[in-house]
Amino acid sequence: MQTTDERMACPCGSGDRMADCCGRFVDSGEPPETAEQLMRSRFTAYCRKRIDYIVETTHPDARTKNLRGDVQETAEQLTWSALKVISTSHGQTDDKIGKVIFEANYEHDGKIEKHHERSRFRRFEGKWKYLDDNG
Ligand SMILES: [Zn+2]
Repeated sequence: MQTTDERMACPCGSGDRMADCCGRFVDSGEPPETAEQLMRSRFTAYCRKRIDYIVETTHPDARTKNLRGDVQETAEQLTWSALKVISTSHGQTDDKIGKVIFEANYEHDGKIEKHHERSRFRRFEGKWKYLDDNG
């Protein structure tokens, strides 16, 4: 049985159904093969308020004490849309590190703002994890 989430277009904006896109990682637990897939799936997880997924895909070195609370607050207060991946470097199946530069819109208190990020990713136990926003 499919949920409504699975049938609808993926929040990451790929044009695919969520079940065929980020849902494979967020809902079905497949490990993303590339840093960009992880980045997109974390964006989708923010849109769907899947806090566990965001915490789980944060590199252990980057898990601050208040990570869960911070993630929850961000997910609940901001409405994300219009993800646009600007560039990626490394982050492929044979790489150990990767970088994804992206933009997205978020709505907070009725105002739309633009978020720009240079995310860095690193593998941990073979799986891609989010490390930080490198400015
Ligand atoms: Zn997606």
